[in-house]
Amino acid sequence: MYDFIIVGAGFFGSTFARKVTDSGHSCLVLDKKPHIAGAAHDEPQDDYYVSSYGAHIFHTHSEEIWNFVSNFCEFLPFINRPKVLSDNKIYSFPINLMTLQQLWGVKTPKEAEEILKRKKVQCENPNNFEEWALSMVGEEIYSKFFYGYTKKQYMREPKELPTSIIQRLPIRLTYDENYFTTKYQGIPKYGYTNLIKSMLDGIDIELGVDFLKQKDKFMRLAKRVIYTGPIDEFFNFEYGKLEYNTLRFEKKHFSGDQQGNAVINHVDESTPYLRSIEHRHFYKHGESIKHYDSNQENFTSVITYDIPAKYEENPDPFYPIRNKINSEIYQKYSGIKPTNVMFGGRLGEYKYLDMDQSMASALQKARIFD
Ligand code: UDP
Repeated sequence: MYDFIIVGAGFFGSTFARKVTDSGHSCLVLDKKPHIAGAAHDEPQDDYYVSSYGAHIFHTHSEEIWNFVSNFCEFLPFINRPKVLSDNKIYSFPINLMTLQQLWGVKTPKEAEEILKRKKVQCENPNNFEEWALSMVGEEIYSKFFYGYTKKQYMREPKELPTSIIQRLPIRLTYDENYFTTKYQGIPKYGYTNLIKSMLDGIDIELGVDFLKQKDKFMRLAKRVIYTGPIDEFFNFEYGKLEYNTLRFEKKHFSGDQQGNAVINHVDESTPYLRSIEHRHFYKHGESIKHYDSNQENFTSVITYDIPAKYEENPDPFYPIRNKINSEIYQKYSGIKPTNVMFGGRLGEYKYLDMDQSMASALQKARIFD
């Protein structure tokens, strides 16, 4: 008999397990996959790590979270400065003065402000992705940088999507190309799987186990269940299916540096993939990474291409689609509240949570059991 069975060994489940274990509770962590670390899972390749499910850059505003996660790994400094490839040209991204220089030749914040003022589409109360983007940057930037990419990623028109998706991105009238605005940012020196492994140290783990297939057995095995899988699946889709966006990943091995940067966003609608990730660049501050600046050396460089996929065809849900219909369905599920079951994480809370937000949510929920 355990105090907790935690379903899912991703960021939420592992943080929760660590916290309640440290408060004296016993835990069993289960995962359907044959590995820990959820979507942050990665594998070693020479002197760096290749993530199995797309780019992960740990970033947070919270000193508490940064201190907590730093107990389990050392971080390499890394600032995410992705580039956009549009019409065979590379642009600085997120939108900043350099992007506007490349587009319109402006050099100063004042020049940028003036030109943007003329380009913006007036909208009193923007209440979808498209309206918000048009009201912030106007038609030209919207169609070049946002429309094709977002339509590919979400497989629907941006006007059917909530503003929260685009509000994740800064728009800056300075030359600051940092994708994030957070105080802390970095890459675990030995990858995310090792970070989670260290977090789960001393905790019982069973991998390749589908909790839902043996729900009754597991419910009897523990006083409480923490479920981080899709909440609709837990309730056997009683109130209908929630929608998720998903990606599949194509990995290719090359000799030498291919793209000169960790992340390139491919914004043209005609390009089938969203991003290409050259993993080696995340580890440029690693002590052992060889010949970082040289593209002459014959080293193996792994690039992963993120390709949008239909959830029905690719059963890994990555992005909850919080539109009106899905939010209503989610409200019904979250209102059920079975005794002794708590839901958490991106899929359990049906909410776009970054890694740090998942940790924060887990720490908060685990505090009840201190
Ligand atoms: N986005 C875009 N063009 C880009 C990058 C991002 O239109 O080159 C939009 C897209 O809708 C995306 C959102 O901005 O979902 C938030 O970007 P983020 O990088 O946070 O995407 P995620 O990490 O969710 O894939």
